[in-house]
Amino acid sequence: MRRCDTCGRTGNATIGMGGATICNQCEPDVREEMDRLRQAGQPVNVMHIARRIFRATNRGSDFLLKDWPADLRALAEDRASRDGTSIRELILSAVEAYVSGGST
Ligand SMILES: [Zn+2]
Repeated sequence: MRRCDTCGRTGNATIGMGGATICNQCEPDVREEMDRLRQAGQPVNVMHIARRIFRATNRGSDFLLKDWPADLRALAEDRASRDGTSIRELILSAVEAYVSGGST
């Protein structure tokens, strides 16, 4: 199940738009912003729109991981790349599995 880049949730039907994953709940808001930018003659970047909406509704959601061992980080980046995902998605999936009682 893909995670929506706008709301951060999984579980809703999603579509790919401009490199971003958008759920059916967020799609109208993203399209509205796309239309607004087009009418203003400004560039439209769906991922930037999704992230901007996410940040506006999830203040304080950043987390900086300090002193991450370089070898572990490199292994994680290699695996994420092979799996076609990101470090962000890898960490979020691991945390979701942990809090739901699954294994990490
Ligand atoms: Zn969404």
